[in-house]
Amino acid sequence: MSSEEKEKLKRAEEEEKRASEDEAGEEEEEEDEMEPKQKLLQILISTGLLIAAALIDRNTNLVMWQRLCLYLVPYLAAGFDVLKEAGEGLAHGEALNEDFLMGIATVGALLIGFVPGGSPMFAEAVFVMLFFQVGELFEGIAEGNSQRAISQLLDIRPDTANVERDGKIVTVNPEEIAVGETIVIRPGEKVPMDGTVIEGSTSLDTVALTGESAPRDVSVGDAILSGCVNLSGVVRVKVEKLFGESTASKILDLVQNAGSAKSKSEKFITKFARVYTPIVVAAAAFLAVVPPLLSGDFIGNFANWLLRALTFLIVSCPCALVVSVPLAFFGGIGAASKIGVLVKGSSFMEALARTNTVVFDKTGTLTKGVFAVTDLHPDKIDEKELLHLAAHVERYSNHPIAVSLKQAFGNEDDGCTVEDVEEIAGQGIRARVNGKTVCVGNTKMMDAIGAKWKGCDAPGTIIHVAIDGVYAGHIHISDMEKPDSKEAIQSLKKEGVQKTVMLTGDRREVADRVAKDLGLDEYRAELLPADKVSCVEELLKGKAEKGSLVFVGDGINDAPVLARADVGIAMGAMGSDAAIEAADVVLMDDKPSKIARAIRISRRTIAIAQQNIVFAIAVKLIILVLAALGLAPMWLAVFGDTGVLILCVLNSVRTLSVRN
Ligand code: ADP
Ligand code: MG
Repeated sequence: MSSEEKEKLKRAEEEEKRASEDEAGEEEEEEDEMEPKQKLLQILISTGLLIAAALIDRNTNLVMWQRLCLYLVPYLAAGFDVLKEAGEGLAHGEALNEDFLMGIATVGALLIGFVPGGSPMFAEAVFVMLFFQVGELFEGIAEGNSQRAISQLLDIRPDTANVERDGKIVTVNPEEIAVGETIVIRPGEKVPMDGTVIEGSTSLDTVALTGESAPRDVSVGDAILSGCVNLSGVVRVKVEKLFGESTASKILDLVQNAGSAKSKSEKFITKFARVYTPIVVAAAAFLAVVPPLLSGDFIGNFANWLLRALTFLIVSCPCALVVSVPLAFFGGIGAASKIGVLVKGSSFMEALARTNTVVFDKTGTLTKGVFAVTDLHPDKIDEKELLHLAAHVERYSNHPIAVSLKQAFGNEDDGCTVEDVEEIAGQGIRARVNGKTVCVGNTKMMDAIGAKWKGCDAPGTIIHVAIDGVYAGHIHISDMEKPDSKEAIQSLKKEGVQKTVMLTGDRREVADRVAKDLGLDEYRAELLPADKVSCVEELLKGKAEKGSLVFVGDGINDAPVLARADVGIAMGAMGSDAAIEAADVVLMDDKPSKIARAIRISRRTIAIAQQNIVFAIAVKLIILVLAALGLAPMWLAVFGDTGVLILCVLNSVRTLSVRN
């Protein structure tokens, strides 16, 4: 066999494997979707059987054990799976799971009629089991709905891509496409991977990424992100990132792993469940045995107290909380991603809700990070040479300043050699261009190499250039504030954020103007990346203990700060991969105004989770007290369990909708 044939065989095998995996996936999905329907059918059938049994029971004169057999039919129809799970739980040593407790309570109710002095409760036992199943049904539907809502929203991963190979367009799995290849995207297709448009123009629907419904126009030279949908024209795109590293795949990974950082409420529930259930079960055992023993007439009083104990068992399950609280957070994370804010875990939801200080990076966060060259002030060389040198030194940098200088110069490929590039964060860049050492950066950098720089009163950012240590002039560049920055600060104030601070490596004059324009409370300028970390540390020490500090940055030079803050928010479109990795929250469309909206969503999510916690615990405690006093009939206990579960789940589902 030639190696080519082997290669082909291997590929065919892989194809087959993938196909069969896909099938398996589909089957699983079908099973999931069938479940609520099956459960509903089971509930309906058992309800019918229960009514039939009750009718037969009423119109005949059966003895106790015959009645038991009669009611066992609807009981088993309603609860065979619960009993099976209970048995499995027991085999695994988890005696206190909800199925086991429900099983014991209902079997107890079925048998209580046989205890001397006890009145039979056959129909009640079946009813309790039925209602428990109704609760399970609700839970299944609500979870399915939330999951579907989120996966629909994230239905951004395309299955195929059209790539140009040997002059032909072939449709392949996007995973097989390499960086540098050219793909063709037609109207109606999803953008499969990140790249740059090299031919054609179109408008893109970015709603899946950002929640903004206004289409975005792109043409030659513009970046295009995977997960958008191409609306109008055919474009040819040069691939810049592998499929697995493209935006769409990244987002899916983020959201799928969002559950890992658990919130305090969720941890509380787990702890609560671990303590609550055993205590209630122990109390039930105590109630069944001790009071009748103390009364002196054990046989005469046992049935009465056993009934109270069974009621205890029915309310002993904390499932309303165990189910509804994580569901609320899941919905909240979904709602945030609908507006283009990815929250990496429910613990960050909680921290966001407590925000009282917001610290911003300037360039690329509050300002667009797109600089226009406004003036050239050369010293001993000509203007063209000044810009030429600066653009070349910046050749390999993706700092917003670098990108802008390169754009301003235009033609980069003029045969110059650029070697030994060294980027000094917060200062600038040094490189050898055509054998000469050129430094491009701020006054800190000029001071470091001993070049005698000249000041300038003009507003805006100033980039100084030195050749072989000798000053060669400066370039004026100016950035623009993002159109929604001002609104972002205002709405944060409205949400009760006490302090807004801007940190920047840029000149004091520029920082001062931006801070005044936007209405920020404080700013610090001329900072090195390490200074930003210490500023944030200082602010962390100064803030109220309960509040959290949010840092918002584009991640160019500020990934360490993102990691240090209580909540690090990164710009997703412009930000670097390192920033998106280090951040806890990612803004897909780089709009700072989304922060206040995310805070609102997180506060609503927390409120709903807390409502559930308080409501469920209060109702259960009241019913426990009533049951101990013999005042709680079994239907009330069922409400305390399943009724509360249903109400809490319905309440949690509200988090999924975006209201602001
Ligand atoms: P910011 O804090 O506003 O995001 P940075 O910390 O990234 O800014 O950079 C601070 C300053 O350092 C810039 O205003 C600029 O003067 C200088 N600088 C940083 N990187 C470069 C670069 N690639 N080219 C020229 N100057 C740079
Ligand atoms: Mg920056």
